[in-house]
Amino acid sequence: MDVTSVYSFSELMIYIAISGIIFGVGSAISAANKGRSIFLWFLIGFLIGPFGFILSLVVAKNTNAIEEKAINSGEMRKCPFCAEIVKSEAKICKHCSKELPEISFDLASQKIQVKSIHDAVYEGNWSLVNQLLKEGVDVNQINPEGKTPLEIARERGDNLIIKLLISNGAK
Ligand SMILES: [Zn+2]
Repeated sequence: MDVTSVYSFSELMIYIAISGIIFGVGSAISAANKGRSIFLWFLIGFLIGPFGFILSLVVAKNTNAIEEKAINSGEMRKCPFCAEIVKSEAKICKHCSKELPEISFDLASQKIQVKSIHDAVYEGNWSLVNQLLKEGVDVNQINPEGKTPLEIARERGDNLIIKLLISNGAK
């Protein structure tokens, strides 16, 4: 093996590595916008280059992850009637046209309307439930009907609130 061929081989490796990184980053950015794993998609783009990037463009959105992120940030909430995701400050649901319950934590005035955790769960108001739990409201308290917040959430099939309650110690 002469010097020239060694040089071009390492040069080739550098080109492969650079294009791998470019496609890796491209795939990761495209995947992140769809709520998918950045690391995994970097790896896919790095390993299969342009094909990985194309895959990242056509892969389906991970809607749950995106929704959960928006709800956690308080930017969005779930409509209690149709369970679609709407903006937190919206007054009318754009999906079912029903009037949405007033958001109970008013960011502008920093005022919280007094409401029980059971009502908040019943309304599907994730951000209020979260707020009340942060304030130290008992997650297992029983309402006059003998129900815990978790039981109400399960009746409503509200998976995001069920998860929130369980992660706060609901039994
Ligand atoms: Zn709706």
